[in-house]
Amino acid sequence: MENKRFIYLDHAATTPARPEVVDAMLPYFTEKFGNPSSVYTFSQQNKAVITDCRELIANSLGAKSNEIYFTAGGSESDNWALKATAEAYATKGKHIITTKIEHHAILHTAQYLENNGYEVTYLDVDENGIVKIEDLKNAIRPDTILISVMFANNEIGTIQPIKEIGAIAKEHGIIFHTDAVQAYGQVPIDVDAYNIDMLSASGHKLNGPKGIGFLYIRTGLKLRSFVHGGAQERSRRAGTENVTGIVGLAKAVEIAFDTMEQRTQKECKLRDYMIDRILAEVPYARLNGHRVDRLPNNVNISFQFIEGESMLIMLDMAGICASSGSACTSGSLDPSHVLLAIGLPHEIAHGSLRMTLGDENTMEEMDFVVDKIKEIVEKLRSMSPLYEDFVKRNANQ
Ligand SMILES: *Cc1c(COP(=O)(O)O)cnc(C)c1O
Repeated sequence: MENKRFIYLDHAATTPARPEVVDAMLPYFTEKFGNPSSVYTFSQQNKAVITDCRELIANSLGAKSNEIYFTAGGSESDNWALKATAEAYATKGKHIITTKIEHHAILHTAQYLENNGYEVTYLDVDENGIVKIEDLKNAIRPDTILISVMFANNEIGTIQPIKEIGAIAKEHGIIFHTDAVQAYGQVPIDVDAYNIDMLSASGHKLNGPKGIGFLYIRTGLKLRSFVHGGAQERSRRAGTENVTGIVGLAKAVEIAFDTMEQRTQKECKLRDYMIDRILAEVPYARLNGHRVDRLPNNVNISFQFIEGESMLIMLDMAGICASSGSACTSGSLDPSHVLLAIGLPHEIAHGSLRMTLGDENTMEEMDFVVDKIKEIVEKLRSMSPLYEDFVKRNANQ
């Protein structure tokens, strides 16, 4: 009998650390354990290693080394960017612009700020999930201090017109932050060309370790410290450096950028193959997100008359890991705020499936998964009274 398969299609949730990443990290747990703040050579070597890592990451964005601040990941970077800007620029104004489709690390931080006297405008997006530039321009006020728009969406993969948004922010003298957790390592980013003032990224979304990320902060921004204590991270984020994490993150970044072109080309091929097969072979299915301005690894499809959660369970039984259109913090049955923002009715948003690809996926897996999806959709629809009614009504017309 064939062994049970394991097909991982949830790379937007997290990715496996590459073996090279783990190998690079290991010595820093044991023989190279020194605290980078100590004065003796043994520890100063680790300080030098962190400097090299910072430089490698800065180069990947066209930034300067001293503009990269290590954090515990995407959520911390997003929190820091919003809260610290709000506090530092409160005398200029208390208005922030973001979008309805941000990650909860942004949305919940924005809500926190609203509860503390700030005003937030949440921009609508069009049916493909793209921010309307006119709406952005209209939302800008004299007291607007920050625009935060994600580079690419984690659910539907849509890539925003970041260059245009950056130019508008710059023209109005407003700080521009982007949550690039999904885009970083997948698409080229240049902070100067795009006028990005702050950028969040996370290690575990690009085949690095969990619990490490960074915030890029452009020189000259007045941001308060996020963690008070020692002088680490230029006194803005205290605490003994996560040396192993930083080394692993830098290795993951190095590989991600060295392999970006061929890797994303391969992913686009798999992605488009899967999308085309599903749309051609499964009736009453629709693609969510922009067809072209889309992350190379994102497939998001709504299947009418189906509960995404039921699909997930059946896919899981077949050894396939995917994600549904419900709130990613599971346990909630609310449909995804992103799918509602692109205009899907609740019942269609509920029938959505996100599959996000990685380096290790193959064309053969795509065929296996699409065949399984066809089987599952047919089975679930055959048990659905809604679908039965729909078919009957159609036949009578
Ligand atoms: C995963 C993710 C985050 C959170 O990153 P963590 O490192 O898990 O805290 C933030 N924003 C986006 C778009 C993400 O996909």
